[in-house]
Amino acid sequence: MRIYIETYGCQMNDYDSRMVSSMLTAAGHTVATDPRRADAVIVNTCSVRERAEDRVLGRLRQLRGLVEPGAVIGVIGCVAQRMGDDLLRPTHGVDFVVGTDQYERLPETVANAHAGSRSVSTRVAHDQTYDARPRPTEASTCDFVSVMRGCDNYCSYCIVPYVRGRERSRPVERIIEETRSLIELGARDVTFIGQNVNSYRDGGVDFAGLLRVANDVPALARIRFATSHPKDLTDAVIDAVGDLDSVCEHVHLPVQSGSDAILKAMNRSYTRDDYLRLVDRLRTKMPGVALTTDVIVGFPGETQEDYLATLSLMDEVRFDSAFMFRYSVRTGTNAAKLVDDVPEDVKLERLESVISFQRVATEEINRRLVGTVQEVLVEGPSERNTSLLFGKTRTAKVVIFDGPSAPAGGLEPVLITEASAWTLRGTHTPAG
Ligand code: SF4
Repeated sequence: MRIYIETYGCQMNDYDSRMVSSMLTAAGHTVATDPRRADAVIVNTCSVRERAEDRVLGRLRQLRGLVEPGAVIGVIGCVAQRMGDDLLRPTHGVDFVVGTDQYERLPETVANAHAGSRSVSTRVAHDQTYDARPRPTEASTCDFVSVMRGCDNYCSYCIVPYVRGRERSRPVERIIEETRSLIELGARDVTFIGQNVNSYRDGGVDFAGLLRVANDVPALARIRFATSHPKDLTDAVIDAVGDLDSVCEHVHLPVQSGSDAILKAMNRSYTRDDYLRLVDRLRTKMPGVALTTDVIVGFPGETQEDYLATLSLMDEVRFDSAFMFRYSVRTGTNAAKLVDDVPEDVKLERLESVISFQRVATEEINRRLVGTVQEVLVEGPSERNTSLLFGKTRTAKVVIFDGPSAPAGGLEPVLITEASAWTLRGTHTPAG
């Protein structure tokens, strides 16, 4: 069968789609690039925001009008896990639903759906880490390996623990095996992903231990990781990031709010001071470390004072960049029981201010790099101007540069000549 997969949401969903695609290919199916020419369409969904979920439901109706008669449509991912049977209601036009722990059933489920049998598989399997997955058959210069699944933190605004289940780590050997396979296929920069990678544990090996083992993998130029919860970022991890050659000096450390009252309501289990102490430790160990974060404004009960505390924390830390959101209620979470009392126009105003504040901070930090030589991992030609090359620094900053053509995967010294809040411009500079 020809199978088309469409993916919404985070890196974990992109990763899962590739895993699902390799499972289906190993079962004899082929991958289609157009839903109109597919026998089965699989939509891998995200339910982090209510709007994301609405978009998926809209897209399902649209797909039903696009596909050939006889083609089947299935939903996997967080919306599948959250909505289950509900998705089989005729208005959604769905033939099968497979939750986040049941992807191994997909080859059989797709075949059954094609034979006319509609089904829902959303059983939670607390030990599912998909370690029997087929080996990767293709890789990008910058690729991903999942090291753990699920989350136990229950931040009050977040749906992840309900749709991705409890935390479970993959065995070290499987992670290293997959990393080696990706390198054989051309990857040079690998990001270890999970909802909360710092709580990784496989027997006696914690996340710092995993980084140390991965650092010894030959030809792996760069190791990154995301996402870190501040409460689990130990000195051992900070030391590993600072000491290990391949581990990049970049930590994505979501703060969410600068107000202790809001952090408590969010169930984040650290205070503003705890967070600032962590930043201090990171910068003492690695003065050039890039710090990025996530911020939510307009959480229930957020006063003007709370919001200003977030802004002042951003000013104190000076993040390299940030993902910023305004709070929106997520049905099924603990925060949904709180009164969503910050008016929409105030949420928007606060969001616009943090975004413009951050834009200035990012630009200022990027400008400090002008005149320095940065090691850039080439990812290929720039999309806008194919005579230029595109790559990233160790601190994950995008660089567009000119110079002699260099193959993807090469590490090139680049003199930074211009900087904006979004990109660095540079020119290849001969080594030495
Ligand atoms: S740490 Fe909090 S925000 Fe992150 S996935 Fe877990 S519950 Fe959600």
